[in-house]
Amino acid sequence: MDLRTFRRDFITRPLFRQAARVMPPISETEREAIDAGTVWWDGALFTGDPDWNKLLAMPPAKLTEEERAFMDGPVRQLCAMVDDWKIVWQDRDLPAEVWNFMREKKFFGMIIPKKYGGLGFSNTAHSEVVRTVSSCSVVAGVSVMVPNSLGPGELLMHFGTDEQRDYWLPRLADGREIPCFGLTSPDAGSDAAAMTDTGLVEYGMWKGKKTLGIRLNFHKRYITLGPIATVMGLAFKMYDPENHLGRGEDLGITVALLPTSTPGVNHGERHIPQFTYFQNGPLYGKDVFVPLDHILGGEERIGQGWKMLMTALAAGRGISLPSQSAASAAICARTTGAYARIRTQFNVPIGMFEGIRQPLADLAANAYLIDAARRLTVAALDEGHRPSVISAIMKYHATDRMRDSIVKAMDIHGGKAIIDGPRNYLGGQYRSVPIGITVEGANILTRNLMIFGQGAIRSHPYMLEELLALSDSDKARGLDRFDRTLWKHIGHAFATGWRAFSRGWSGGRLAPAPEGAAMPHHWQQLSRYASAFALLSDLSLATLGGALKRKEMISARLGDILSELYLLGAVLKRFEDEGRQEEDRPIVDYVIAQGQRRIAAAFAGVLDNLPARWAAVLVRLIAFPVGLPGNAPSDRLTNEVAETLMRNSPQRDRLTPDIYLGEGRQEHPLQHLERAFVLVEAADPIEKKMREKRVRDPEEARDKGIISEAEFARLVEAKAAAARVIAVDAFPMEEISPIAAQHRQTKAPHARRAAPRRSRTAGST
Ligand SMILES: Cc1cc2nc3c(=O)[nH]c(=O)nc-3n(C[C@H](O)[C@H](O)[C@H](O)COP(=O)(O)OP(=O)(O)OC[C@H]3O[C@@H](n4cnc5c(N)ncnc54)[C@H](O)[C@@H]3O)c2cc1C
Repeated sequence: MDLRTFRRDFITRPLFRQAARVMPPISETEREAIDAGTVWWDGALFTGDPDWNKLLAMPPAKLTEEERAFMDGPVRQLCAMVDDWKIVWQDRDLPAEVWNFMREKKFFGMIIPKKYGGLGFSNTAHSEVVRTVSSCSVVAGVSVMVPNSLGPGELLMHFGTDEQRDYWLPRLADGREIPCFGLTSPDAGSDAAAMTDTGLVEYGMWKGKKTLGIRLNFHKRYITLGPIATVMGLAFKMYDPENHLGRGEDLGITVALLPTSTPGVNHGERHIPQFTYFQNGPLYGKDVFVPLDHILGGEERIGQGWKMLMTALAAGRGISLPSQSAASAAICARTTGAYARIRTQFNVPIGMFEGIRQPLADLAANAYLIDAARRLTVAALDEGHRPSVISAIMKYHATDRMRDSIVKAMDIHGGKAIIDGPRNYLGGQYRSVPIGITVEGANILTRNLMIFGQGAIRSHPYMLEELLALSDSDKARGLDRFDRTLWKHIGHAFATGWRAFSRGWSGGRLAPAPEGAAMPHHWQQLSRYASAFALLSDLSLATLGGALKRKEMISARLGDILSELYLLGAVLKRFEDEGRQEEDRPIVDYVIAQGQRRIAAAFAGVLDNLPARWAAVLVRLIAFPVGLPGNAPSDRLTNEVAETLMRNSPQRDRLTPDIYLGEGRQEHPLQHLERAFVLVEAADPIEKKMREKRVRDPEEARDKGIISEAEFARLVEAKAAAARVIAVDAFPMEEISPIAAQHRQTKAPHARRAAPRRSRTAGST
C-alpha cells in the first residue's frame, strides 16, 4: 500500500463520511446559480493572497469615440427633454416625444450588436449612459435600463436560436418592440424558483392548424415596462403530463418569448412604485397557447430557464443598479456640498459646522467608492468576465451606500429637500431608493445569503470541488477526488495561517503591496485582511459546515469583509488609474479608514459569535494579536474631505463626472444651484472684508467704503442667486386637492388666506 492509498483509506475516508453528513446536498437551483457566471477577482481574494499587481495592470474602463459622442449627443439631449417633476405631478409617464426619441436613437438597443441594428455598445458605455440618464431622472433611467438589462434582448443574444435573433433583435433595437421580463409572481419573490406559473405541453390550434405547444397560465407582478410591453420573457414551470416530448413530466423552469398580443394575455394595469412613475405592473395569462418555437433558445433550452436567468444576472447585476447608484451618490455629493456652502444659519454657511461636515465627508467618500467599484466592474465585464459574486457585491453595496448618501443629503438639506415641487432636486432620488434596494435580489437576502454563501462555494479555491466529490454518485471516485482536493486544501490552510500570522504580528508591515504603488501602507493592510479573511472563512466553513447557510448573520459578516476587500481595492486602483491626483489623497485615506473599520467590525462580529470558540481564539491569536485595528477617520481628515465638496474645483468635477446639471433646459434647479455656488464662492473675499470690519449689511459696507460698488453688485447678485436656491415651492390649494374648492365655497378661514396662484415669494421656475 503506497502512502497516498494509506492516506485516502485511513485518514481521508472518516473525514469524507463526516463531511458528507454535515454538508447538505446542493439543490438543482442552487447548483445552477453556482454554475452561472465566472470566477474573477473574487477567486483571488478567497485565496487570501491576491496579486494586486494584476488588479492594477487591468486597463481602466474607457469609452470609444462613438460611445463618447453618444454620451455628449443623444444622452444630453434626452436629459434636456425630461422634466422629472412634470412626470410625477402631471404626466405620470414619460412624454410621447421622449419615448419616440429613445426609440429613434436606439436607447433600447444599446447592448444589441450592430449587425442586428443595435448600437453594439460596451458594458462601460451601457453603464455610463444609465448613469447619466439616471442623474437627470430615475424614471428615464429605469426605462432605459430595463430593455438593456435582464430581459428578452440579453437572453436572446446569449441563448436565442438564429431565427429568434434574426426576428426579434432588430425589432428590439429600434424600439418597435418593447420588452419586459416576467419572473416574479405573488408566491415567488426572493424565492423566484417557487413560482406557480405553469406551461403544459399539449396540442392546440395555432394559425388554424393543430400544433404541439404550451398552454400557459400565469400571474406575474411588479413587472417593469409590463403595462406597455409588446413582448414578454416569461419564466414558468413546464410540465409534459402526456410525455409528448419523451422527456418525462417535470421539465423545469423554462423561458418563453410571449407577444403580449397573444389571446389570453392580459396586461395594462399599473403599479405605482413609490410615485416613481416608470411603467410597472402585473401581467396575467389564462390558457394562453403558443407553439414550442416560442421557447427561448428552442426545445433544447427547455428546463434551462433558471440557468439562463442566473447567467444573465451574473453580469446585469454589476451594471444597472450600480450605475444608477453611482449617479445618485454623485448628485447627492455635488448638490449637498454646494447647498452647504450657500445655505447660512447663525450667519455661517452650514457646511462650516462640524456636525454637517461629518455626513458631508461620507457623501464624498460614497461617491468616490461607488464609482471606483462600478468602473472596475464594468471593465471586467468588458474583458469578458461574468463574475456573479462580484456583481452581487456591487448590487448590494452600491444600492446600500446610495441609500446612505441620499439620507445624508436629505438631512443636510433639511426642509429644502422635503418640500416637493420643481425646485426639489433630491425628492425623486429619495423616493426611488427602496426600489434599488429590492429589485435584482433584495438586499437583505443578497448580503446574508448570497455574497459569502455563493462565494464560499464558487470562488473558494477548493470548496466546490470538495462538494462535488462528496455528492459524486460513484462513492469510490468521490473519495478519491475528495482526498486529492482535501489535502491540497489543508496545505493551503497552513500557508494561509502562516501568512495571516506574519502579516498580523507585523501589523501589516510584512504584507505585500503592488510594485511602485502610491499608497503601499493601504495595500498592505488589505493584504493583511485578505489572509485573515481566508483563514477565518476556512475555519468557519470547517466548523459550521452546512449550518453556515442558516447562520446568516455570520455569513453576512464574512460577506462584508470580502466586499470591503473588493471595494477598497477598486478605490486604490482608481487613485492609480486617475494619475495619483494629490488632492484626492484625503478622500482615499478617509474611504480606507472607514472601510477598515467596517472590516474590523465584521471580523469582531464573526469572532464573537462563531460557535466553535477555539477557532475564534485561534484566529485572534494568529491574525490579531493586539486586537482588531480600525481607527475611525480623524476629525481633521473628515474636515478636509468635507471641504472638497464645498469648493468649486476640478477635483469636485472629477468626483461627479458626466452627471446632468440642467444643460439645455431653460429652467432647472441644478442650474440655479451651480450658478449660486460659483457666485457665493466668488463673493467670499468680499464677505471676509465685511466680517473683518464687523459689518453685516452690504449697503452699509458699501456706504462706509469697506467694499467697492462693483463688489457690492457681485454680493447682491450672489445673495439673489442663493435666495433662489433656498426657495421652495408652494402651490395654490386647488392644485393640490380638489377638496380645497369646497373649503373655499364654505368660506373656511384658511381658504380666505390661500394665494390664488403659485406663491410669488418662492419665485418661479
Ligand atoms: C419596482 C419593482 C420593479 C420590479 N421589476 C421586476 C421585473 O421587471 N421583473 C420581475 O420578474 N420582477 C421584478 N420585480 C420583483 C423583484 O425582483 C422582487 O420584488 C424581489 O425579488 C423581492 O421579492 P418580494 O418583493 O416579493 O420580497 P420578498 O421575497 O417577500 O422578501 C421580503 C424580505 O425578505 C428578505 N428575504 C427573503 N428571503 C430571505 C432569506 N433567505 N434570507 C434573508 N432575507 C430574506 C428579502 O431580502 C426582503 O427583505 C420588481 C420589483 C419592484 C418593487
